[in-house]
Amino acid sequence: MKLDLLTGLYVFMLAAFIGFEVIRRVSPLLHTPLMSLTNALDAIAVVGAIILAGEHKTNLAAILGTIAIIAATSNIVGGFIITVLVHTDMASPHLVRFGTKRQLEKYLPGVLTGEIITAVGVTEPGAGSDVAGIRTRAVRDGNDYVLNGTKMFITNGVYGDLYFLAARTDPEAKGSRAITMFIIEKGTPGFKVGRALDKTGWRSSDTAELIFEDCRIPAENVLGEPNRGFYSIMANFQTERLVIGAMAMAEAREALRLTFEHVSQRTAFGQPLWDKQAIRQRLSRRLAEVEAARQLVHHTAWLDAQGGDCVAQVSMVKALAGDLVNQVLYDCVQFHGGMGFVRETAVEPVAGTPDGDDVAGIGWVVLDLLAHPADVDRDGAAVAVTSP
Ligand SMILES: Cc1cc2nc3c(=O)[nH]c(=O)nc-3n(C[C@H](O)[C@H](O)[C@H](O)COP(=O)(O)OP(=O)(O)OC[C@H]3O[C@@H](n4cnc5c(N)ncnc54)[C@H](O)[C@@H]3O)c2cc1C
Repeated sequence: MKLDLLTGLYVFMLAAFIGFEVIRRVSPLLHTPLMSLTNALDAIAVVGAIILAGEHKTNLAAILGTIAIIAATSNIVGGFIITVLVHTDMASPHLVRFGTKRQLEKYLPGVLTGEIITAVGVTEPGAGSDVAGIRTRAVRDGNDYVLNGTKMFITNGVYGDLYFLAARTDPEAKGSRAITMFIIEKGTPGFKVGRALDKTGWRSSDTAELIFEDCRIPAENVLGEPNRGFYSIMANFQTERLVIGAMAMAEAREALRLTFEHVSQRTAFGQPLWDKQAIRQRLSRRLAEVEAARQLVHHTAWLDAQGGDCVAQVSMVKALAGDLVNQVLYDCVQFHGGMGFVRETAVEPVAGTPDGDDVAGIGWVVLDLLAHPADVDRDGAAVAVTSP
């Protein structure tokens, strides 16, 4: 992956900033949703704005992907990094890729400075893995669309400012050909947060149910081509799966680091736990597995940055990393003994709960992309299976 000097500097500064400063500041809050990321995103944005001003627009997706991967390989726990990644790699790319000049001028500066935090709303109470099955309706009425429906599990849902929302616009058409993306500002009449969801993992990320009741959106807020939203969602899932894989391996490494530390200090039967061969070998084996998966993540990021087809590799990353992180976290908690179950232990926010990467079984679903390659690339998007 070729990085020019300015981009390299940006990536380095961001990784250093997130790795040290943000984590230091937010770690006391890891069990409660982060109220605002504005400070963190300010720093990202200042340099980001310089890059944009320097005509580097075409590199933006690759830059953000790279940043996310580097950030995710720092010692960060999932709830924090998913909050940032949804803004940088899952929601905002919808605007960057498909926004009109007017939409970009209106929203992008705020997105870059972190004054506008973004969210993407696809999942519904009745449709998660099956994106084409969403029911939220958007009906054209003069110069507006009127939206009705409910979105579920939306990250940055409560504290976000700008939402990129999928809704069904053609009731006659087949699921994948009937979806349009909309830009919705917080405070639009008819749009409210139903409830904040109290999760067992990723406690510091904000996840919400969103409700739309006769919510009137100007037609100029259609994002991308009408009825082609499904394909833009699928295209962005590639980036999402990649950065989530990177995040999973960062969490696994951090949990292993903490566990190596713990078993070196903790004694039982007159010896540090590290001296027990079974524990030493189990942890070393896990480290090898995580390192192998991490190499796959980096290789796939490199392929992606070259602009080549890497749907198969991205699917492998998602399936492998989501599964592996939970196996590693289970072992790490086990080797902490009773303390692995206690909130004051450093490993607990990383490992104490099922991990969101695989908790919805999403990794298993993407394996179909490997089993049915013929279904993989229609209109440049992975369409056979649809969860991020
Ligand atoms: C913490 C968190 C944050 C999220 N953030 C967002 C967000 O910001 N925006 C957003 O739009 N969504 C978000 N989601 C939703 C997420 O994308 C969905 O949970 C996911 O798509 C799965 O959908 P579901 O929960 O409805 O499960 P279902 O689709 O009901 O699936 C249930 C189970 O069945 C399995 N399954 C389904 N279909 C198949 C199949 N064909 N073959 C085999 N197994 C199958 C699934 O793998 C899963 O294990 C988030 C979810 C979580 C947990």
